[in-house]
Amino acid sequence: MEHFKERFTKWMQGRYGGDQLSLALLILCLILMVFTLPFHSPLLRLLPLIPLVLCYFRIFSKNKYKRQQELFKFIRFYTPIQKRINLSLKHLKERKTHRFFKCPKCKQTLRVPKGKGNICITCPKCHTDFRKHT
Ligand SMILES: [Zn+2]
Repeated sequence: MEHFKERFTKWMQGRYGGDQLSLALLILCLILMVFTLPFHSPLLRLLPLIPLVLCYFRIFSKNKYKRQQELFKFIRFYTPIQKRINLSLKHLKERKTHRFFKCPKCKQTLRVPKGKGNICITCPKCHTDFRKHT
């Protein structure tokens, strides 16, 4: 076992390894596996293999520069999505104590305490006043 570990470590030297994009590809593979499960088409069953093969290709690739460029593109694409997901999770956590409104003028999201009745909300960004029930 020790010998195998040593050989694998030596073989992995100079290779790119795993990163966020590889993990995302693995997750995409699992999602595709679940969604293609009810279908009996052999072509659809092969669909999850595409991100899996890409994932392994990236991990074992020796072209580190190109893999890093792909990672940067992925991060640029994924960061706004991740921010939106985190914000939705935050809103979900605070839904019992706060309500969220968008400013009618600048679309800024405003958080106000729940259960205060009809209140006048002033947007801190553009100073627009609007009435809402909390
Ligand atoms: Zn505003």
